[in-house]
Amino acid sequence: MTYQQLKAEESKYVMNTYGRFPIALDHGEGATLWDVAGKKYIDLASGIGVNCMGYNNQAIIDAITAQAHKLMHASNLFTTAPMIEVARKLVEKTNLNGKVFFANSGAEANEGAIKLARKYSFDKYGEGRYKIVTLINSFHGRTVTTLKATGQERFHDYFFPFTEGFDYAPANDFDALRRKADETACAIMMELIQGEGGVLPLDREFVRQVETLCREKDMLLIIDEVQTGIGRTGSLFCFQQYGIRPDVVTMAKGLGGGVPIGAVLAAENCADVLGPGTHATTFGGTPLVCAAANAVLDTVGDEQFLAQVREKGEYLKNGILALGSPHILGVRGMGLMLGVIVEDGKHTAFANKLIENGVLAITAGKNAVRLLPPLTITKAEMDEALTIMKEVF
Ligand SMILES: *Cc1c(COP(=O)(O)O)cnc(C)c1O
Repeated sequence: MTYQQLKAEESKYVMNTYGRFPIALDHGEGATLWDVAGKKYIDLASGIGVNCMGYNNQAIIDAITAQAHKLMHASNLFTTAPMIEVARKLVEKTNLNGKVFFANSGAEANEGAIKLARKYSFDKYGEGRYKIVTLINSFHGRTVTTLKATGQERFHDYFFPFTEGFDYAPANDFDALRRKADETACAIMMELIQGEGGVLPLDREFVRQVETLCREKDMLLIIDEVQTGIGRTGSLFCFQQYGIRPDVVTMAKGLGGGVPIGAVLAAENCADVLGPGTHATTFGGTPLVCAAANAVLDTVGDEQFLAQVREKGEYLKNGILALGSPHILGVRGMGLMLGVIVEDGKHTAFANKLIENGVLAITAGKNAVRLLPPLTITKAEMDEALTIMKEVF
């Protein structure tokens, strides 16, 4: 079917909840994609930071295929090996001495973290200590609770009543955050680089102050690594570059390399808060997606691979700055999570123009063209993208 035929069918049968870019994708290889008309694109989006290993990746295909022949799903009423292996890798590679709960998406991982924080506080201090402070301009998901956790007013419409017990502090303003973190607060939840909010990295000093405050007041420090995690910023998790020790880390997007999986990693002090019957999901940690996650972690978890992500990030960032375009006001971010800053409100026009010319890019905040390429992108693919970007910018 052509793009036009697909769109006609789509508008008839699929809820119109997304403002999609005007192409229909068909297949990919490495960091290169082709649409249904056979037009080629260099992919600087990887879904939304999901396809970290690129397309047609042999390791992921082999892992999924072998697991599909054995066992795809067993429910959480039984023990299965692939899940345990993913959990062990996450624990060993973070030194949090913790334990993992498996979910199916970022929002669900954050829901799990919110439940964990409230129960941690209830178990120790009883009722009344439920508030979770998040940051203004954050993004934590689309469920009724994680919408409310999201510190952007435009997400707090229509779906009343929202879950109570969230309050917001401006990023990088420690005194304001401390005032919000009163005796009713049980946790601080934040992204270290606000992704949807505009690719905005938090100040190191602010993050360390928040960590210290959490220790002082026995609040849990929840780091939402749904977008920054799994090698995206040049370390397995972004918190490792901030030199902090979170209590809870949530992840999803890149973890399955293209299959839906989310996870909550809790450090040893709160790893046993959620006991039998307190939290569950039918699909969480199913063998098929865990086989993929194991392949991802074996590759992305490797120090040499992560060093390459940092190098590629520098190469791409410097290449973009070297374009010398008056429309490019700066490049923010870490590793292969970059925001090309343009004039306010012009980011969507630039993303559209890039796509028209053969580079897939997405947007964030009010002025960022957001780049989240597959971590496996080659120098040749980056050069091809830069050539197109030069023309567009
Ligand atoms: C994408 C994202 C989420 C939500 O993840 P879903 O899988 O869409 O539910 C939550 N937090 C952050 C930081 C994200 O980038």
